[in-house]
Amino acid sequence: MLEVERLTTRYGSISALRSVSISVGAGEVIGIIGSNGAGKTTLLNTVAGLLKPAGGRVELDGSDVTGWTPDRMLQAGVALVPEHRRIFTDLTVAENLRIGGVTVPTRERSSLLDEMVELFPVLGARHQTSAGYLSGGEAQQLAIARALMSKPRLLMMDEPSLGLAPVLVEVVFDLLATLRDRGRTLLVVEQNATRMLEVADRAYVLRSGEVVASGTGPELAASENLFDTFVGGRDSSSNGQGAQA
Ligand code: ATP
Repeated sequence: MLEVERLTTRYGSISALRSVSISVGAGEVIGIIGSNGAGKTTLLNTVAGLLKPAGGRVELDGSDVTGWTPDRMLQAGVALVPEHRRIFTDLTVAENLRIGGVTVPTRERSSLLDEMVELFPVLGARHQTSAGYLSGGEAQQLAIARALMSKPRLLMMDEPSLGLAPVLVEVVFDLLATLRDRGRTLLVVEQNATRMLEVADRAYVLRSGEVVASGTGPELAASENLFDTFVGGRDSSSNGQGAQA
C-alpha cells in the first residue's frame, strides 16, 4: 500500500532522514522505533505531507504522492495522529469527531460515530464535554478517534503512548491490537519498543535518520544487541519521562 523509497528530509543543513526506505502492506501494523532524534517524527510528517522531502519517493498504491499536501494525502486515505495529540480543546468531543469526518460522505458519518463510541466507550460518555477537560488518556483516544473518522486506509500515529500513565499505555496498545485484528493498516512511531514489537507485524529501527534494522516483532525483540545499541535499553524510555514498558 505504502512504499517509501530512499526518502531524504532536511531541516536546513541537518539531514533528519537519509535515504529511508520502508513499506507498509494493506492490513499490516508497522512499527517505527528508535531513540530520541532518530528521525521518526520526521518520517511520518514527510509521508503525511507536512514536510517536503529533499529526495526520494512516496508511493501510495503504486501512485507517486511525493510532496502532496496534508489535505490531499487525507483525501487519498492517509491520516496522521500527530505527536502531542492536537485536538480542538475549545470544542466538544462530538464536534472534534465531526470535524474528523468532514472528508467522508454525510451518510456514512453516523455509523462511523457509532463505531468510535464502540471502540472508545469513554468518548461516548463524554460526548458533550469540552475536549479541554479530557485527561491525557482520553485526549489521546479522541485524537485517534478523530483520525479514524476520516475512514483512513492508512492510519499513522506518532508516539500514541507518550506521557500516559501505565494503565493508559495499556489502553492504547490494546486499541492498536484491536485495530490490527480488524484489519486496519497502521504505521506507528513508538519509543515503547517492547510493547510496539508485541503488536506490530514488522518494525523498522531508525537511528540518526537511517534504517539500521528491520524485521518481525519476534526477530527484533530477540536481539538484545539491537535494544542496547539502537533503541537505548529494553525497558528504558529514552525521552526522560520514565519507563513505559
Ligand atoms: P523524538 O522522539 O525526540 O521526537 P524523533 O525520532 O521523532 O525523535 P525527529 O523529531 O524526527 O526525531 O528529529 C530528527 C532530527 O531532526 C533530530 O536531530 C532533530 O533535532 C532534528 N529536528 C527535528 N525537527 C527540527 C526542526 N524543526 N528544525 C531543525 N531540526 C529539527
